[in-house]
Amino acid sequence: MNALKEKILSRIAAEGPITLAQYVQMALYDPEHGYYMKGDPFGAKGDFITAPEVSQIFGELIGLWFVQAWEDRGRPKPFHLVELGPGRGTLMADMLRTARLRPEFLTAAEVLLMETSPALRSLQRQTLKDASAHWIDSVAGLADEAPLYVVANEFLDALPVRQFVFVDGRWHERMVTAKGNELAFVPAPDPAQIDTLPKHASPGDVMEVSLIAHGVIAELASRLALQSGLALFIDYGHESGHGDSLQAVKAHQYADPLAEPGEADLTTRVDFAALAKIAREMKVQVCGPIAQSTFLESLGIHARAERLRREADANTRAMIDTGVERLISPKQMGTLFKVMALSSPDSPPLPGFKC
Ligand code: SAH
Repeated sequence: MNALKEKILSRIAAEGPITLAQYVQMALYDPEHGYYMKGDPFGAKGDFITAPEVSQIFGELIGLWFVQAWEDRGRPKPFHLVELGPGRGTLMADMLRTARLRPEFLTAAEVLLMETSPALRSLQRQTLKDASAHWIDSVAGLADEAPLYVVANEFLDALPVRQFVFVDGRWHERMVTAKGNELAFVPAPDPAQIDTLPKHASPGDVMEVSLIAHGVIAELASRLALQSGLALFIDYGHESGHGDSLQAVKAHQYADPLAEPGEADLTTRVDFAALAKIAREMKVQVCGPIAQSTFLESLGIHARAERLRREADANTRAMIDTGVERLISPKQMGTLFKVMALSSPDSPPLPGFKC
C-alpha cells in the first residue's frame, strides 16, 4: 500500500471519516507525499497536459491581452503581475517573452508567483531564471500598494472541494472512510448545516462547494475593488452548479480517485457562477465565462499560428496545427474550458470579452 494511503487510513482510524476536501488536501498537498509536492506531473510524459504546455501560442496571446489591458488602464507603474498556481512556469515565461514588444510593460511589472509546492517552485525558478520573480504563499500575501494583474490557468480546479449528497430529504456531507485497507465514500450521519444548497433535490444527487476557491475570489475581489486591477481565470468548468465532477487522472487515463492518493491528479469542475456572484457582490466587474475557443479566436489565434507556420518546417507546422486544434476544438479544450475575468469597478472594457 502506498505511504500516503497508510497515513490517511491512520488519520481516519484516529479521528473518524474525513471530508472530501480534507482528503483532496492530503492527496495533492501532503508535504511529503502530495501529488503536487513531489515533482513535475505536466506534459506529454507526465499525467496530463495543460494549455500552456500544449502550445506557446496560448501564453503569447495571454501576454498580449495583459499588455493591452495595461495600456487601456493608462500604463500604471509599478504594478504586480501575479500568477496563481504556475505549474512549470511556462505560461508566465511565454507571456513575458511576448511582452518584450512593450519594454515599458516589463519595466513596470513586478512578477509574483503564488505556489504551494516547493518542488514546483524550483521548476518555476529554472523556467523564469531571466525574470526577477518573487514567490508568495497565499493571496493574503499580495502587496497592497500597486494595481494587481492576475492570471490563473487550471488553478481553481485543483483546490479541494466539499461534496454533499441528498439522502432522506436532507444534504449530508460526503465523507471518506476506511473499508478494510481501502478508502470509500460514505454520507455523514447528520445532515449538513450549509444554507447555500437548494432545498429540493432527488435522492442521491450530489452538490459541490469549493469554500477555498470562494475565499480566494473574495480576497482578490476585495483587493481589486480597492487597489484596482484585474484577474483572468481559465479553467475547466461549468457556467453554473453541477453534481459530482471529481476526477482522477494518471498517465493521461481516468483513475479511481480513492485508489492511490498522491499518485493521480484530482480535479473538480469550477462553478463559475458561484465565483462570479461573490465578485459581483463585492462590486467587482465580471466578464464571461466564455468558451476558451471564443476567447483565443478573438485574440487572433489563427493569425498567430499562420505567422509561426510560415517560419516552420513540415514537422513543426504539424505540431502548431495539432496544438491549435487541441486548444480550440469543441471536442478537446475549446468549450469545456472557460475564461472569466474580474476587473475593478469603473474600468475600461477588457479585450476578448463583450462586456
Ligand atoms: N497553471 C499551471 C499548473 C496548473 S496545476 C498550468 O496551467 O500548467 C495547479 C497549480 O496550482 C500547481 O502549481 C499547484 O501546486 C498550485 N496550487 C494549488 N493550490 C494552491 C494554493 N492554495 N496556493 C498556491 N498554489 C497552489
